[in-house]
Amino acid sequence: MVTVNAYAARSATGGLVPTTIERRDLGPYDVLIEVKYAGICHSDIHTVRGDWGPQPYPLVPGHEIAGIVTEVGSAVTAHAVGDRVGVGCMVNSCGECANCRAGEEQYCLAGNTGTYGIVDRDGTITQGGYSTHVVVTEKFVLRIPDGLDLDVAAPLLCAGITTYSPLRHWGAGPGKKVAIVGLGGLGHMGVQLAHAMGAEVTVLSQSLKKQEDGLRLGADHYHATSDEDTFTDLAGSFDLIVNTVSASIDINAYLQLLALDGALVNVGAPAQPLPVQAFSLIMGRRSFAGSMIGGIRETQEMLDFCAEHGLGAEIEVIPASEINDAYQRVLDSDVRYRFVIDAATF
Ligand code: NAP
Ligand code: ZN
Repeated sequence: MVTVNAYAARSATGGLVPTTIERRDLGPYDVLIEVKYAGICHSDIHTVRGDWGPQPYPLVPGHEIAGIVTEVGSAVTAHAVGDRVGVGCMVNSCGECANCRAGEEQYCLAGNTGTYGIVDRDGTITQGGYSTHVVVTEKFVLRIPDGLDLDVAAPLLCAGITTYSPLRHWGAGPGKKVAIVGLGGLGHMGVQLAHAMGAEVTVLSQSLKKQEDGLRLGADHYHATSDEDTFTDLAGSFDLIVNTVSASIDINAYLQLLALDGALVNVGAPAQPLPVQAFSLIMGRRSFAGSMIGGIRETQEMLDFCAEHGLGAEIEVIPASEINDAYQRVLDSDVRYRFVIDAATF
């Protein structure tokens, strides 16, 4: 075991504080990673605050991890000391169920092992990337391509793949009209990715405050959802809507914006329900769906796609001492567009 510095929540309300945690000795398939950057995802905040249920405090969040391999187990073949690597929202899965075999480990029928707050295979609780080091089995370690800096790559491990996967699954591309709801961490990646895939992209944001940024990131159109006209002007116009909003919104109003056979895919995970009227779906053969991160193979594909297209997150790098302030700014929708913690400050 090795003792490393980390930041942990000790309760739902106390904020994050410096601490130390133990990382396991390397097994034959394990990789020791020196974390360089850890992104702050809204899911970290939901989890710490107990939005999704009680947590096993103390809890070290962080599932957007980028760093360098410093040691490998005796049987590791996929990664070597010095490699630039990333770890996302899961660190293991059963590997045997139909979904794992299909490369959709996030939907493991036995439950994937989340990067933090989950009982690991050895019975300990997983602890995430707000830490100087992590130990992860090689299959769940991604290669960060040359040309992607580690700081802008870190958020791709969750915000990137969570938007890439539904865009691919629902066929975003030339001739498709795609709307991204919410221009935060996920949303700003969704806009860049959908644009790079060739879709016509619209941002639906609470206000026009970030319009210039949205257009610069690749959106063709930008509308404020606080303006009632938005919902009448855009009725029936989108093939795909990806909702990244962290709070409950009026899903029925957004379903009206879908064209025939359109799909509204929810990736936002608010604590509150998202009630849907049957007629919102019946009228126009519309679908309301959800999507969770992406499998390991697809995550690697997304990283390679970002490198090829010169995409990365727009980030604000902060020291660990500013995590609690950053959390508040994310809650206030005052993030442009991802906070990334410099791991040298843990
Ligand atoms: P974020 O950076 O806080 O972005 C969310 C955006 O939603 C905000 O920037 C804001 O955009 C909009 N928003 C916030 N409150 C709103 C409200 N009350 N009404 C309307 N719009 C509002 O969060 P994130 O890190 O992108 O995460 C977004 C959500 O996705 C979270 O719930 C997170 O847990 C979830 N998530 C899910 C997965 C998955 O696998 N499905 C993975 C990661 C995260 P505007 O200011 O532009 O309106
Ligand atoms: Zn996340």
